[in-house]
Amino acid sequence: MKENDRQVKQITPKSEDFSKWYIELVQKAELADYTPMKGMMVIRPHGYAIWENIQRLLDARIKASGHVNAYFPLFIPEGFLKKEAEHVEGFSPEVAWVTIGGKEELEERLAVRPTSEAIIGHMYARWIKSWRDLPVLINQWANIVRWEKVTRPFLRTTEFLWQEGHTCHETAEEGEAETLKILELYRDFCETELAIPVLSGRKSLREKFAGAQMTYAIEALMSDGKALQMGTSHNLGQHFSKAFDIKFEDRGQTLQYVWQTSWGMTTRTIGALIMVHGDDSGLRFPPRIAPVQAVLIPISVGAWKETVLPTVRAAAEALRAAGLRVEVDAREEATPGWKFSEYEMRGVPLRIEIGPRDVKSGQAVLVRRDTREKEIVPLAALPARVPEVLEAIQARLFADAKSFLDANIRDAADYAGFKDILENNRGFIRAPWCGGEECEDRIKAETMATIRVMPIDEAESRTDAPCVCCGRPGKALAFFARSY
Ligand SMILES: [Zn+2]
Repeated sequence: MKENDRQVKQITPKSEDFSKWYIELVQKAELADYTPMKGMMVIRPHGYAIWENIQRLLDARIKASGHVNAYFPLFIPEGFLKKEAEHVEGFSPEVAWVTIGGKEELEERLAVRPTSEAIIGHMYARWIKSWRDLPVLINQWANIVRWEKVTRPFLRTTEFLWQEGHTCHETAEEGEAETLKILELYRDFCETELAIPVLSGRKSLREKFAGAQMTYAIEALMSDGKALQMGTSHNLGQHFSKAFDIKFEDRGQTLQYVWQTSWGMTTRTIGALIMVHGDDSGLRFPPRIAPVQAVLIPISVGAWKETVLPTVRAAAEALRAAGLRVEVDAREEATPGWKFSEYEMRGVPLRIEIGPRDVKSGQAVLVRRDTREKEIVPLAALPARVPEVLEAIQARLFADAKSFLDANIRDAADYAGFKDILENNRGFIRAPWCGGEECEDRIKAETMATIRVMPIDEAESRTDAPCVCCGRPGKALAFFARSY
């Protein structure tokens, strides 16, 4: 390979400047681009293909667990948002409003949905009359607008894409069970499909969703040591059903308010894929989610179009027939070396090289994106061997991320130790907390760390050790981190 082939698309090394590395990678791998509107990005085809795979795999799980999809309006009347006091207070700083339609000033402002509890609550009040109408298990795939001050592609943008589930149940127990079932669905999705290990648990009241009774979340650790919330599942209790008057006649013919949940996962997960798996050469997509799982590159020597290309195309066909997502790059204007670094940048898990000598000996060279290991495989064995290698890559990416996560959960016994870990290591800090918001506030102000999650099982998180901040008796062991 010529030296300048490698120079085509260099990015700042991750260790040198993580956020510069991230931004350059997003652009050079053509995942997203900036627009003239501050905080709004275009998700380019390569990035959108990832989102489509996330949607396809997550949607299948949501449906398999009994939910159905629907679509609700983009606009929400101001009066609806105001019905749940905590909800409007939490979201109002970032709501975009429509005040004029055509040339007419509207009588009531319309919010561009920052989340859909309000409009969905209004509709549920019309649809639910009896216990026979329950449970309601609806999910929606939609876009959301939150007017953010500081933005970063995929991680925080004014408009983003997500799914939001909104369910109604007969009892508090069923509502809680649904909330935890979805939390577990999200955990399994992240770990199995995205190869991203997570901590799952409950949020503190300060960090919960505006209007929820209890918020649960899964949190992942990015390779710069900062946490990223990957998904949330809220037990809404009866907060919204009381505000929106969603009542049903129960089995004993008494009118009751329904018990609700809501839960969401967003295009942020693409940011996590980049930050957990990416390296100095670019993206490394887990095969299960990668738009292209293997790229076949003919080595262009001599009359390669006649001698090599037909074999490459036949190998690609055999792999497609085996159910794999593969591409052939037969472009003449690019050298094989240029193509190698291009697909490394784009995160394609496996490269398959075939040159004139390989054709003669009936073989191909496989090069793994994760370890760069090479393996020579007979052409006839490709449809059997490639899926095995892809599975090994998926497992390896998860194992690497898991050992990074495990190595970066540290215990802090006192505040000095807590600060020291944040200064020198970052990652998650497990520490006793007294349950007081003033300690959460002080820790956040002084260290920029917040409580990401606490174990769901209160018995498991109970502690007698003194609070890491104030020294009063601790109530729970909490996982703290700086986060995106
Ligand atoms: Zn305290």
